[in-house]
This record gives sequence, C-alpha cells and structure tokens, in this order.
Amino acid sequence: MTRLTEIVMMNILQELKEIVGDRVSASPGEMCCYAGDASQVVGLPDFVVRPESTGQVSRILRLCSEHLIPAVARGAGTGLAGGCSPVRGGIVLDMSGMNRILEIDIENQQAIVEPGVIAEKLNSALKPYGFFFPPDPGSLAMCTIGGMISYNSSGMRSVKYGTVRNYVLDLEVVLADGRVIHTGKKVLKSSAGYDLTRLFVGSEGTLGIITRAGLKIAPMPRTRKLVLACFDEAENAGRTVIRIFSSGITPSACEILDRTTLQVLKLCDPMPAIPEDGDVILFEVDGTESSTSEAVRQISEICQPTAKSVRIADGPEMDGIWAARRLVGAAISRLDPMKTRIYMGEDVGVPIKEIPALIKKVQQIAAKLDIPAMKYGHIGDGNLHVALFIDVMNKEQWEKLLLAADKIHRAAMELGGTVSSEHGIGLARAEYLPEQVGTEAFSVMQSIKKALDPKGILNPGKMGL
Ligand SMILES: Cc1cc2nc3c(=O)[nH]c(=O)nc-3n(C[C@H](O)[C@H](O)[C@H](O)COP(=O)(O)OP(=O)(O)OC[C@H]3O[C@@H](n4cnc5c(N)ncnc54)[C@H](O)[C@@H]3O)c2cc1C
Repeated sequence: MTRLTEIVMMNILQELKEIVGDRVSASPGEMCCYAGDASQVVGLPDFVVRPESTGQVSRILRLCSEHLIPAVARGAGTGLAGGCSPVRGGIVLDMSGMNRILEIDIENQQAIVEPGVIAEKLNSALKPYGFFFPPDPGSLAMCTIGGMISYNSSGMRSVKYGTVRNYVLDLEVVLADGRVIHTGKKVLKSSAGYDLTRLFVGSEGTLGIITRAGLKIAPMPRTRKLVLACFDEAENAGRTVIRIFSSGITPSACEILDRTTLQVLKLCDPMPAIPEDGDVILFEVDGTESSTSEAVRQISEICQPTAKSVRIADGPEMDGIWAARRLVGAAISRLDPMKTRIYMGEDVGVPIKEIPALIKKVQQIAAKLDIPAMKYGHIGDGNLHVALFIDVMNKEQWEKLLLAADKIHRAAMELGGTVSSEHGIGLARAEYLPEQVGTEAFSVMQSIKKALDPKGILNPGKMGL
C-alpha cells in the first residue's frame, strides 16, 4: 500500500463526505492529534472520520477495500502499544462518537453498548441497579469498551473476575469488505460453531471493526475489605502471594507496589495513604460481611510470619489506598522531573509461581544497566508493570532503555510467560509475537488474517500481521 496521491486524496475526501457529511477531516493539525496513543508509536493518517452508525462504518470499509486504503479504528487513544497509531497512513475511524448505551437488561444480566462508550460511564449507568462491568483498567475513566475488547484489557479485579474476554457475549463487527456480522447471541452461553466472539476479542482492529457489543454484567459485591502487608523485599512479597493462592483464597485484587513506587507516592502527597516503607502487597477481598472477614483473617495470618507489618482497611481508608494505587503509573515523573516514563517492557506476565524469579530478574537488569525501574502491578495474575524512566533527550539513556525492555520481555518468555498480560502487542511488541506463540501458531494467525482481510487494509502491520 502506497501513500495516496493528491488527486486520489481529493476524490476519497469527497466520497467520505458523502458517507459521513462534515464528520471527516484532512487538516494537518487534526491529523497530528490522531498520530498516536500513549505509547511511542506514531504515524500520520490521511483522513480522520467520525462515524455515527454501523452503516457508515460499512461504507467506509468498502471504500478502503476498493482503493486499498489502510483503516485504523481508534477508541480513546489510551493504548500503550501503538494499536491505534496509523503507521501506514490511511483513514483513522474515531469510534468515540458511537457512544450510546443501547440496553441494560438486568433480568438477562447483560448490557448492549456501542464501542465508544467509556468504561466508567457504563459502570455509572449500572450502579443504580446494583450491577457492574468488572474489567477495570487504570484508565477506566478514559478508555472505550471497543478499545478494551480489542486489547482484551483487564485490571485490578481480573484476578477474581477475569478479563474482558470473560464478559463479551456478542459482537457486531464490520468486516474488511464492508459485510456486517454478529458473532454471538443474547445468551450467557452457547456452543454453536467456532467461537468468533473470542477471535475478535484481542484482535486489535486487525480483523474487523466492532460497532456494537453485548456484554455480561455482574452484581456488585456487598462488602469489600483490604489487607495491606509490607515486606522487606519484593521477592519475599512474591513468595507470600503464592502461599495465599495455594491455600485456596481468591482475593478480588492482589497488587504489588515496590519501595520505589511508595517513594513516588510520598512525593505526590506528604500525608500518603500508604506511608509504609518497604515492598507492599494490597489484597482486597469481596463478598458478604462474614466471608470477607474470614478471608481477611486468613490472609493476615499467612502474611504475619514474613511481613514487616500487616494492617486491615475498609471504607474511606481503603478508597484512599486504591486512589493512591491508581495514581502510580502517571506519578512516576515526580521522582525526577527531568525524566519521562517510557511504556516499554512495562506489561510482562509469568505463571504466578515464577513471580519471585521475574522480580529478581527485573532488579538485576535494571541494576546492571543502571536504569531506574519502578515495579508495581497485578501480581495475583502474575502481571508485573515495570516503569522505566529516562531523560528522553539523552541518547545513551534511550539505548539503555531499549536494551532493558528487550531483556525484560525475553526474561518473561524464558519463564514461560508473556510479553503482554493486558496492554496488547500493537507495534510496540510485534517483534516478539512469533517467538512467544511459536512460528506454527503465528502462521495460523497469519492465515486467519488473510481469510478475513485478504487485502490487508485493517490496521496493517499491527501484531506483525
Ligand atoms: C494511565 C493509563 C492506565 C492504564 N491502565 C491499564 C490497565 O490497568 N489495564 C489495561 O489493560 N490497560 C491499561 N491501559 C491501557 C489502555 O487504557 C487500554 O488498553 C484500553 O483498553 C485502550 O482503550 P482505548 O479506547 O483507549 O483504545 P485505543 O488505544 O484507541 O485502541 C486500542 C486498540 O483497539 C483498536 N480499536 C479501538 N476501537 C475499536 C473498534 N471499535 N473496533 C476494532 N478495533 C478497535 C485500535 O485499533 C487499537 O488497536 C492504561 C493506559 C493508560 C494511559
């Protein structure tokens, strides 16, 4: 696919105007706004369109297919792997305008939404019914359901409630040639044919564009409590987590914040919600009053022998601790205002048993390369977020960062894990996918891509496809 000539551009712009009216732009300033997401991956589109209906998306993709124009779906652009960055130009479909909650069906425990609905808005709409949509990325207040489905996003609650994949029942998808399909029904389970719904979950806009989603929702738990355990070293904290899970307890959240992370939080707030000094694990449990009290007792008992301190929180104190946890990713620059956090090597995951080994490996890599690294994340899922931060004007620091990220990715794979537990592959991690899944499995992915998008117009290059 080559960049469009001026005359072709004019014709395409005219055709797009016929489809979406004035909801199309080719102005250079606006193209810059759509060049990337929250990662380092960028590329300028030729056009941005803001469709309002499935019919419009279908006509746009037919046009793209006819003229071999790349089509890149975009939700809120909060992705961390360059998934919505239009690296080969073409048309960005900004799906944020398709943002209606079409139905909340409590009897069937489902909600039907358009892809541009912001996750937090869905939860606000479900709250009066006592229900919620459990996947909760840290970007909940910004990211769209379409983006979450396309990355199979998750967050702090996935350790108990699972990832987005566990909540998608049906998708309306526009295929590369403009055909519209539904992948499921309004039923909680089905064993009819290939599981197309799951094929599209995590497909990062490379197989089709989601225009509607039928989602399973869950009743909100009545009680939540938190155990905060502080350890002398992160590896030790990791081993305690393994003991908790092996004893049959399933927390509703299980997060690690290492000592550097706590230092960052103290720089943000002189009266921090987590004043501890050490490596902290937050265990949240939810359920009934009696079941949560019992789980809190058991977790505390298991932590006591190895922890420096253990305390229990609920109500506003717990909310304060979670608010501090949500600050972490963005707050890191407080450690050194001259440095910027770069999202690379930031989302590795391993089997839980290997968490202590992963922590040790990351510590060694950072120490050897003399690059500061903050570690936090969903340790109960085996998912460690590593925050590397550098002076972006310093070439030598960039080189160190790239090397550190590569070593972290390879360490996770060597431990039987993944280069991304929830942020996706996009372009940022595309080079690792064949190695992680194996060349045969990767060639199956290539065949699926070819079958559904033979002209390769949908988000070309992403995931190495
Ligand atoms: C501060 C911060 C915290 C974060 N915390 C978390 C976290 O805890 N857990 C987590 O998993 N992620 C997290 N993320 C990453 C990001 O927010 C998620 O990946 C999110 O789901 C992306 O949603 P989005 O709407 O921004 O999608 P975008 O970035 O716009 O797009 C993501 C991908 O989805 C595709 N896409 C978007 N809409 C559609 C559609 N309708 N049809 C087909 N494809 C589509 C795009 O092409 C792209 O490949 C965080 C990001 C930030 C900035």
